[in-house]
Amino acid sequence: MPITPLMPVYPRCGVRPVRGEHCHLISEDGARYLDFASGIAVNLLGHSHAGLIGAIQRQAETLMHVSNLYGSPQGERLAQRLVELTFADTVFFTNSGAEAVECAIKTARAYHQSAGNDRKYELITFANAFHGRTMATISASNQDKMHKGFHPLLQGFKYVEFDDLDGARAAMGPNTAGFLVEPIQGEGGIRAASDEFIRGLRALADEHDLMLIFDEVQCGVARSGKLYAYEHYGVAPDIMATAKGIGGGFPLGACLATEKAARGMGLGSHGSTYGGNPLAMAAGEAVLEVVAGDGFLADVVAKGERLRSRLEQFIGNYPELFELVRGKGLMLGLKLKSESRPFVAHLRDNHRLLTVAAGDNTVRVIPPLVIDDAHIDEFMEKLSAGAASYQPEAVPA
Ligand SMILES: *Cc1c(COP(=O)(O)O)cnc(C)c1O
Repeated sequence: MPITPLMPVYPRCGVRPVRGEHCHLISEDGARYLDFASGIAVNLLGHSHAGLIGAIQRQAETLMHVSNLYGSPQGERLAQRLVELTFADTVFFTNSGAEAVECAIKTARAYHQSAGNDRKYELITFANAFHGRTMATISASNQDKMHKGFHPLLQGFKYVEFDDLDGARAAMGPNTAGFLVEPIQGEGGIRAASDEFIRGLRALADEHDLMLIFDEVQCGVARSGKLYAYEHYGVAPDIMATAKGIGGGFPLGACLATEKAARGMGLGSHGSTYGGNPLAMAAGEAVLEVVAGDGFLADVVAKGERLRSRLEQFIGNYPELFELVRGKGLMLGLKLKSESRPFVAHLRDNHRLLTVAAGDNTVRVIPPLVIDDAHIDEFMEKLSAGAASYQPEAVPA
């Protein structure tokens, strides 16, 4: 294959979006798609939210970038808002999810090493996790397909089965710095951790002075029906990575921490040229204003329940195709009895419905959080038509 101007690392499909209209995407050829993929759980407010667009436009006209050499009234405002809304006392802004997880890993190591515990550098992570594509974040995942060609990996990660508290306990040792876990696995197949597991990790961390890190890059920012998914479990992390939805489509991530957890992150310990730039801060503020507004979360919960019960009813019509529905809020997974990728391709190419494939034969149903009942109706119509016309062997994945 000849090299292409875009490095050919993605298996891109034939849909070439050039415009977004609320919860729909319009392709270069004029075709209109219902978007229940949301740029992989990013476009929380859909594609043409006036508040978000206005905030970005106003900020772009005023000031886009100055670096972190100067005081940041914009950054202070958004950080303050996140501190008010979460467990955290302090925030480091990044441009992506992987960078937010990187900062979380560094914060956990520095927590111990700043106190003279140089041996405590190892994080216990969980099978089929996804934490990003940098060297540290691929090293944090047990998925060989992301490691191939990139050895040696970064040291200091130990993999345990997801939701296996006994396994996590058994993996602990003198080098353990903490745990890194997605409360609801996204790429792994929309799998929510059990209460016992998350609460058990919290108890182990408390007992042994370890850092509990939640990667909420996908499940955070109202997606699960809570502002952050940890609220479902009644425990808080020490450190948390957030990204994807938080910019509503503008590249933005953040690493949040308690004062105690951040004790190693002093002057000069970390940095980013673009991180926290005024434009990203304006986008983040606009998104938070909406999702933390009156009734927004309750509305996500109600819509999630309606969509879920429709899906649960529907899959009974195709017992040979579907296995189950799982997830929380508007982070739903439809588990198939066969590979999900060809079904996602079929829905996209033959029914103009966009979803995302994930691990464990799962179709991710992750619409913008601003969908209404008409979008749910349209989704169910396209999905039913797609299931009725599906012939697995006829679809190239
Ligand atoms: C997407 C994702 C990341 C990586 O985010 P990028 O912005 O692609 O770097 C990390 N963790 C989880 C859980 C994700 O879903």
